[in-house]
Amino acid sequence: MNSILKSGHSRVASLESLTFENRYAKLPAPFFHGVSPTPLKGAHLASFNAELGALVGLTIEDASQSGFVDYFSGARDMPGAEPLAMVYAGHQFGHFVPQLGDGRALLLGQVRDEQGALWDMHLKGSGPTRFSRGSDGRAVLRSSIREYLCGEAMSGLGIPTTRALCLIASSESVLRERVEPGAMLVRMAQSHVRFGSLEYFYHRGDHENLRKLGEYLLQGEFAHLRDKEAPYLELFDEVIRRTAKLIAQWQGVGFCHGVMNSDNMSILGLTLDYGPFAFMDTFEHDYICNHSDHQGRYSYRRQPEMAHFNLACLATALLPLIDDDNEVAISLVRERLANYWGYFSDAHLAIVRAKLGFLQQESEDIGLWDELLLLMEGKVDFTLFFRQLGALSLSSPTHHPLRSEFIDLSRFDLWMYEYRQRLQREHSCDADRRKSMNEVNPKYILRNYMAEAAIRKAEDNGDYSEIDYLLNLLRTPFSEQSESEQYAQSAPAWAQSIQLSCSS
Ligand code: AMP
Ligand code: MG
Repeated sequence: MNSILKSGHSRVASLESLTFENRYAKLPAPFFHGVSPTPLKGAHLASFNAELGALVGLTIEDASQSGFVDYFSGARDMPGAEPLAMVYAGHQFGHFVPQLGDGRALLLGQVRDEQGALWDMHLKGSGPTRFSRGSDGRAVLRSSIREYLCGEAMSGLGIPTTRALCLIASSESVLRERVEPGAMLVRMAQSHVRFGSLEYFYHRGDHENLRKLGEYLLQGEFAHLRDKEAPYLELFDEVIRRTAKLIAQWQGVGFCHGVMNSDNMSILGLTLDYGPFAFMDTFEHDYICNHSDHQGRYSYRRQPEMAHFNLACLATALLPLIDDDNEVAISLVRERLANYWGYFSDAHLAIVRAKLGFLQQESEDIGLWDELLLLMEGKVDFTLFFRQLGALSLSSPTHHPLRSEFIDLSRFDLWMYEYRQRLQREHSCDADRRKSMNEVNPKYILRNYMAEAAIRKAEDNGDYSEIDYLLNLLRTPFSEQSESEQYAQSAPAWAQSIQLSCSS
């Protein structure tokens, strides 16, 4: 037990067992700015994520004690934690920014789960740091609710992501386009190292600290590669694979990140930094969820390509670790980077086949997929279509419930004919196919309007009940939850007026 808890502060039972190990804080000074959180006024617990809490031994009873909010809102020093803002750089909308960093977030330190894995505990919205660039260091309730919900929604979908332990609301006002309530999240992830963390040292020419960061990764996140002959090349390859799979998973559920800058790309291939993200309602190849992204750089269609761009940025930053001879290093990372498209298309094809209920592989499967998306363009709800496709019966020629939504009906009917033929060729069984399709085609996703409804309740009435409701619903997005049928419909008309920008 640490000294602060021993010294007689009122204490929260299980917080005692949170032993911080603070690996990152042991790195040299240029890696971070050590600073305490700025207490959030009128902080109170809006929601506690008991499922994630259980991972580190925290229960709702612990969270209900007043000390819990004090510790996680900056009112009281967290025993054993060494809060710090991590430095990083990044390519933002294609342009290199040599210094960014946690401008409104703080890494408290790392705690171990029962399996021995280390988890970063990270405050978001915790006040200014050296990297705040004149901004207030706060997060608004609106975007904190969205991040809190989406972390659980992604996790429920089986997509790697950061998650949040709790949402803390406040009486503090924050100025964005309007005055809004501020809030904080306690974010957890096995790493908050970003592509931009490595870019920061590389572009400063600080190869010594770049190597220290590399060693840090090989001792922690990538310890399984430590003894390889070319560990940094293997590390790069693993990041490529994880990233390719992540993006294929995003594409498979119609998720758009919105700000795929290299500072928002996780070294572990996690979905990181939820801003103006969205799950598409109606399918659109060129869907842009970020209202500030005028060029559509991060549109749905371009996400795979943008991940490749970010991996190329990472490749550059890794060069000094790969080989002393720069030319040799370049050719080695080029070779690995070229694997990206293969990794992506393997992962993408596997998802496509699963979504369509195919067990066997045929070379024309991708053609069938592409044709379907062309037909759905601008008209058909992405999530509902696939969920309902799973109910198709090969023996009875019933129509897909969304057939009337397609503009080109004869082309869609032809598609359905070919789809049925394809299933018959592999002797697909209705019941088995339905079961397996329902395990990959979610019934419930976090539609923008759902998050918006939870936000309005919270902002207008201090009522956080919808957040907890959605949290539970979205944790099991593939199961039928009969009492929540209204959440498995297409978005209401008013949802179209929701605009998401980078402001958060
Ligand atoms: P984001 O677009 O949220 O990834 O943020 C880009 C950079 O701006 C990050 O380094 C953030 O820490 C910083 N940032 C965003 N909002 C704020 C804020 N309200 N106060 C201070 N820094 C911020
Ligand atoms: Mg960010």
